[in-house]
Amino acid sequence: GRLLELKGTAGNIRVLCRLRPGTPSSLVSLEPGPGGTVTTCYRGHQRRFRLDWVFPPHASQEEVFRELESAVLSCLGGYSVCIFTYGQTGTGKTYSMEGPPEDPGIAPRALQSLFQEMGTGGQHRVTLSMVEIYNEAVRDLLAPGPPQRLAVRQGPAGQGGIQVAGLTHWDVPNLESLHQMLSLGRSNRATAATAMNQRSSRSHALVTLTLRTASPSRGPGTAGTLHLVDLAGSERAWKAGTAGTSQEDRDGAQRLREARTINRSLLALGGVMAALRARRPHVPFRDSQLTRLLQPALGPGATVVLLLQVGGTAGGEGGHLHARYRPPGHA
Ligand code: ADP
Ligand code: MG
Repeated sequence: GRLLELKGTAGNIRVLCRLRPGTPSSLVSLEPGPGGTVTTCYRGHQRRFRLDWVFPPHASQEEVFRELESAVLSCLGGYSVCIFTYGQTGTGKTYSMEGPPEDPGIAPRALQSLFQEMGTGGQHRVTLSMVEIYNEAVRDLLAPGPPQRLAVRQGPAGQGGIQVAGLTHWDVPNLESLHQMLSLGRSNRATAATAMNQRSSRSHALVTLTLRTASPSRGPGTAGTLHLVDLAGSERAWKAGTAGTSQEDRDGAQRLREARTINRSLLALGGVMAALRARRPHVPFRDSQLTRLLQPALGPGATVVLLLQVGGTAGGEGGHLHARYRPPGHA
């Protein structure tokens, strides 16, 4: 197959790949390590990708986090860091990002590591926000009461930012309260059953931690941000539909609408990453709510890590191989 280069075009954007254990080697094969490759075989078509890092099939949660830890900790120095899990439903996005309680994933490890590094000196003020993007609607997962739809607006001219009117930011005094807030946000997250995977999420979930240095002598100080994004499944629209009775038809139409809007955000993310990697002057941030919201976190100087999840078992739950990934930087 063709070898698609993903490596080395922009130092601040890294694409990593993780294979779900138990994936038949006839469907996906790997050359692990830095600059490793992934070869997928989907409907007889082979495609080979080169990535910045490929984890071996039985890489532990700890090994995955080790590759991300220095980026995570750079938020304490005022940097902006954005970590995505990307892939089809069932490939392990949520496993990698959240993980089961007994084997935590990137998010709990990142938060633990940050709080450990901050210590008890009280030099940082930490705030948390949590939103869901579902059918291009942004909803606040930490607002009191039912999740509210929020408007995403361009900030005042010259300040370059994005404003999400009314977004709830909670002060996070310690790790314990952070975990309580996160579990509240998670329980507010909308999910819907689909033909493909009953537990699959049709929405993007964004957890944002802002760390401000509380140094009275040096003014408000710089704010570092960490965005942890569990993206919606990247499956194609036609797979998610249902047919049959009129109720099922309605549901099918709804699923199709979801798939289209999910794809719009994912497509926009791909477009933004491609433009950033190629250092094009115009970056199409405004093409979706996901990229509008993340614009400040994807700009120059930001660190972006995309963890591409692949694999599963053919025919099993969510076992569709993700072979249509349009790698950033590859038109
Ligand atoms: P997604 O969020 O992409 O839809 P999940 O994270 O829910 O996928 O993973 C699908 C299933 O595979 C879950 O049962 C999950 O526990 C399991 N799984 C995924 N990755 C791993 C892994 N690295 N090790 C063990 N089990 C995994
Ligand atoms: Mg998931």
